Amino acid sequence: MSIKHRLHVYVDETGDRGAGKDSSPIFGMAAIVLDDVGVANVRSAVNLLREDFRVPDDAVMSWKRHVKTHDRRRRAAEVLAGVRGLRVCYVYAVKDELRQGTYLDDHQRFYNYVALKTYKSTLWAARSWKGVGAQVWTRFGHVRGHDHRTTDKYIRREAGRDSRVPFDMEQGLRWVSADQYAESQAADLYGGFLKAALWPGGEFGYVEPAYLLKVWPQIRNSESCAIPLGIMSMPANSLVRQNCWFPCDHCTK
Ligand SMILES: [Zn+2]
Repeated sequence: MSIKHRLHVYVDETGDRGAGKDSSPIFGMAAIVLDDVGVANVRSAVNLLREDFRVPDDAVMSWKRHVKTHDRRRRAAEVLAGVRGLRVCYVYAVKDELRQGTYLDDHQRFYNYVALKTYKSTLWAARSWKGVGAQVWTRFGHVRGHDHRTTDKYIRREAGRDSRVPFDMEQGLRWVSADQYAESQAADLYGGFLKAALWPGGEFGYVEPAYLLKVWPQIRNSESCAIPLGIMSMPANSLVRQNCWFPCDHCTK
């Protein structure tokens, strides 16, 4: 009897879906795909960072609350970059590039669309890593004020009827709150690395790609080209390549 490979996927969103001046320039998701080694390693990494940042036992560690300084962000990237058995998939939309009257006006639809793109990326990552016989358990972070039942339905319908998507690998697509799994806290930090690279902030409006570049080798396909299966920008794949820090030399995507 052959032993089935088991993979665990955790997805967290970054940015908001709003279109106003106070909203984020991007909305996206970070997904981590873990094998059994990855699960153990990422839990240790999260526990170490929780100690480093003195996160109270009853609190969920988050980029927004506990990882605000450059030093802490470097530390988080350094520790997570050392985790073996982990692959990352990113999907994000640049809101300025989206046509008015599309996703910007419909938060539910916007979320669902990005979630489905992310979900497909993770299943393809799982299949290419461990083969089509591997079993996958996917856990999306539950977003306050969002009815995830519609997303669940949408993903099951769209993934189920798309023959390119190995939906049979899925063993338990679920929506979980941030305090349920340490792994969700890692997904939140990976979302933060993406945000720092894309979203001008601070006093002078700089982006900081150093954290994302630190974990870049963990992004799916980054050894050749991470676009689009490891990192997908929307509405065009080429948007991510236009960032001055983009590390793929002579990229043709
Ligand atoms: Zn490339």
